[in-house]
Amino acid sequence: MLEKAACDGVVTAFDRADGLKPCPIGADGACCKMCAMGPCRLPKKKGGDEAGRRGVCGATPETVAARNFVRMIAAGTAAHSDHGRGVAEVFLSAAKGEAPGYGIKDEKKLLQVAMDFGVQIGDRPVNDIALDVAEIALSQFSTDDSLRFISRAPLKRQELWRKTGVVPRGIDREIVECMHRTHMGVDQDYQNLLMQGARTALADGWGGSMVATELQDIMFGTPYPILGRVNLGVLDPEQVNIVVHGHEPLLSEMLVWASRDPELLEKARANGAKGINMAGICCTANEILMRHGIPLAGNILQQELAIITGVVDAMIVDVQCIMQSLPTVAQCFHTKVITTSPKAKMRGAIHVEFNEHDAVASAKAIVSQAIEAFTQRKGEAMVPAEQVDLVAGFSHETINYLLGGLFRASYRPLNDNIINGRIRGIAGVVGCNNPRVPHDEVHVAMVKELIKNDVIVLQTGCSAMACAKAGLLVPDAASQFAGSGLAEVCETVGIPPVIHMGSCVDNSRILMAATAVVKEGGLGDDISDLPAAGAAPEWMSEKAISIGQYFVASGVYTVFGVTWPTLGSDELTKFLFEGMEDRFKGKWAFEPDPIEGAKLMIAHIDLKRKALGIDKARERVLFDMAMRRELA
Ligand code: SF4
Ligand code: SF4
Repeated sequence: MLEKAACDGVVTAFDRADGLKPCPIGADGACCKMCAMGPCRLPKKKGGDEAGRRGVCGATPETVAARNFVRMIAAGTAAHSDHGRGVAEVFLSAAKGEAPGYGIKDEKKLLQVAMDFGVQIGDRPVNDIALDVAEIALSQFSTDDSLRFISRAPLKRQELWRKTGVVPRGIDREIVECMHRTHMGVDQDYQNLLMQGARTALADGWGGSMVATELQDIMFGTPYPILGRVNLGVLDPEQVNIVVHGHEPLLSEMLVWASRDPELLEKARANGAKGINMAGICCTANEILMRHGIPLAGNILQQELAIITGVVDAMIVDVQCIMQSLPTVAQCFHTKVITTSPKAKMRGAIHVEFNEHDAVASAKAIVSQAIEAFTQRKGEAMVPAEQVDLVAGFSHETINYLLGGLFRASYRPLNDNIINGRIRGIAGVVGCNNPRVPHDEVHVAMVKELIKNDVIVLQTGCSAMACAKAGLLVPDAASQFAGSGLAEVCETVGIPPVIHMGSCVDNSRILMAATAVVKEGGLGDDISDLPAAGAAPEWMSEKAISIGQYFVASGVYTVFGVTWPTLGSDELTKFLFEGMEDRFKGKWAFEPDPIEGAKLMIAHIDLKRKALGIDKARERVLFDMAMRRELA
């Protein structure tokens, strides 16, 4: 595709990354532009002379780097939480009967969330319960009390958060406090700043992101394992191709419905197409894959490439991870780039504002635009043949069901197999792609190394798509790539060794899965006791930093690759890589080499196994049929 891009005269993110070297001072977090006395650049000095490294106001490198880091957390939390707020607002409208097209698909989950929120259930009508749930969900953005979902965490973790003073209050308030404290001349103590960073990140993982995940499940259905396909080969030259891109499923759910509308299908056929083919990019794609099996055209770095195929008739974008280059790339083709959110417009794109009170009409209007574009195709089309099967849709609830069955839904088999050593540990490998490293390679190498060593991998976001393209998200991958212990378990249960749990906000599902393992018993009484680790080996987004910080503050050892944004201050970096562990029993690490990163995670997992006294249970036994049945 890059060769076709060059022939077509299109510049992609890969070209721009080659031509634009990162500023080394900014990359290390050593540049401050919080006021007009600066910007102040504080590069490390040869010979280690720290005395002269001060901003005009006297700010030290650790204060500057910590302020930058905390602002990244605030922005990441804002993005996830605004997504959650949007979902909660539509949920409220739906409960009031003011959003035709939306309703309650998963009543069981509604009742679960209602119980967590302390909403009275009894024999009240479902819509009344939903109304109370919606109001409490919206109040989470402004409450002065602690966030409700905090009570889902293991008790010991909640105690630790109370002791360290990081239990989050209203999500908006924590973000605002980050911005206040990082303003010129306010919080100058990097450790104090990072504690606010932790509190804000927890408001993301156990707040805004969890609100988004839970309410989406109630409205659109909790995902269950579903077969999908991934890579640019899912585009079909003979059909109207609509690619949805961004993060929020509010509109894309309706677009799925509209793409199957008989009237619009007839219109497509009347215009010479064989049908309407929907596909997705980034996390909007993950959302509709998990609930409808809609194929994935690719992850973030494939957004431009999808248009370059010449067969995308409309790319519908909502918010986050959308490259401003799209309208320019689309100029070389017939593709309509359509923005839909008032929060995210682009020069050169068509804006069709999505109205949740008339969602069906919004979706139909957009599909009609795509059909019109199909008639205007120009230039040479080239759709690569590559596409790969994957299984997605492993919510925390379906893992529970798959392992335990309908009548004894439980994480017991997972815990037992961790204790007996067939599964060495659990890793959450998530996050973005970054054109500073070869596309997807870092994710795939790390995940292969982990499963080879019997570590089961939970995934979300672009990372899940990278590994899906490498064929790791199908049950057959167990016998091909996993160690013998993990392969035995996967083959018995019929699951892949790499589990697709959804989009970036669905990292909250990983928190819930980790909590379920703790609550099942036998592996300690806190997330930090588990033989588990996290990673975002190709991260680039501020959301990734927020996710990493809430993993760390929840007790997880978390490894990032590519680059690390505080290297400008040794003292701050040491605190993140070592000091955080004293407070949260979780810590950060940085390792750009994916195999070395996996080794760090495995070493941490082994350390936890030792602390639990289960390190000796890993001798290999050949299994006969009866023993295999016992595993299930
Ligand atoms: S806040 Fe201080 S370090 Fe930052 S730009 Fe202003 S003077 Fe420079
Ligand atoms: S994983 Fe990163 S790049 Fe991919 S959609 Fe999420 S935030 Fe964007």
